Amino acid sequence: MSPAVDRDVVVVGCGPAGCAAAVFAARDGLDVAVFDRGRSSLARCAHLENYPGFPAGVDAETLSALMRAQAERAGCAVVDDLVESVERAGDGPDEAAGDAESSASPDADGPRFVVTPQTGDPVAARRVVAATRYDGEYLRGLDGDDAMFEVHDHGGETHEGFDREYADRDGGTPVDGLYVASPSDADRQAVTAAGRGARVGKRVVADARIDDGWWPEPAEGVDWVRREAELDDEWADRDRWVEWFDETHADGPVDPDSERFARVREAAVDDALSAYVEVDEEAARAAAGHRALAERLDPEAVVDAHGTDALLDAMDDEAIAAHVAEDDPNAERAEAESP
Ligand SMILES: Cc1cc2nc3c(=O)[nH]c(=O)nc-3n(C[C@H](O)[C@H](O)[C@H](O)COP(=O)(O)OP(=O)(O)OC[C@H]3O[C@@H](n4cnc5c(N)ncnc54)[C@H](O)[C@@H]3O)c2cc1C
Repeated sequence: MSPAVDRDVVVVGCGPAGCAAAVFAARDGLDVAVFDRGRSSLARCAHLENYPGFPAGVDAETLSALMRAQAERAGCAVVDDLVESVERAGDGPDEAAGDAESSASPDADGPRFVVTPQTGDPVAARRVVAATRYDGEYLRGLDGDDAMFEVHDHGGETHEGFDREYADRDGGTPVDGLYVASPSDADRQAVTAAGRGARVGKRVVADARIDDGWWPEPAEGVDWVRREAELDDEWADRDRWVEWFDETHADGPVDPDSERFARVREAAVDDALSAYVEVDEEAARAAAGHRALAERLDPEAVVDAHGTDALLDAMDDEAIAAHVAEDDPNAERAEAESP
């Protein structure tokens, strides 16, 4: 029997790289926990003025809070704890230090890793994404030290650090199920770190699908939200998507008449159709997006940006009256005394 898996994916770090990886993985339905505590590059930024979407820049604290909220909204459990070690599931400390060739999961459906945080309980996970710019120490033992770490000479002193080229461009490593979003060669700017995290998240999704019987071509999807109005009559029909899948993958590695092909086709068509939203849903999502941003804004900045009149116009008159009465006991008395 497979040992229990607590999480499909554990992401270590919720900076730009980890947040992006976690959001892509969770949005595809994977059960993701993100651990986030400890030394942060983002926290050291005085003000980010080159991260897209923030015309006057954004302070690191606000960006960090927005990223954590986004991960939670995508369905991740964000855990405020420091990961101390990641070991292979079922391995003792000696076996855990073996070479990458022996890294195959002890069981195809079981966990590959045990993630041990500083204060909470250990978590068994199928996949781990490292996204900790300054730290790779907790990964030591999953592969040879020479493969994972390198020695730098800095001002005449030597330091050992995680090798930024250990993982490939999409975060894949020689250790099955281990991905590295950061440290990487993209970690020197926040936006490139986020881009790298997104690539890694997509790779995690594709690999999880492949574990589930998909083959690489359909597994590499896009995470888009599209307007239903873009669906013309032909494509509004599910059968047209089925036909398209059959045409696209007829010469692929899986027999089109097999049960596996039919199962993946159903899932791929469901996935494609679920990307479309109706006008009302689009408006609801826009409103939820504005609200989630507003929650993070300083109310005084909102008054300053919009002006008092615009905000009072947007407010409920009774709420304004009640607020005035609360602040001004005379107003309440006057109201009570009025005939
Ligand atoms: C002084 C300074 C100023 C900078 N200014 C800019 C700038 O203006 N613009 C720009 O684009 N870039 C700037 N950068 C670079 C930017 O900070 C990084 O490119 C970006 O933050 C990298 O993102 P990341 O997700 O890879 O790592 P990080 O931002 O470091 O995020 C890693 C996260 O992992 C968590 N963590 C670490 N170890 C563990 C662990 N063991 N367990 C659990 N969680 C863990 C940390 O708490 C952190 O939240 C600056 C960097 C510095 C140092």
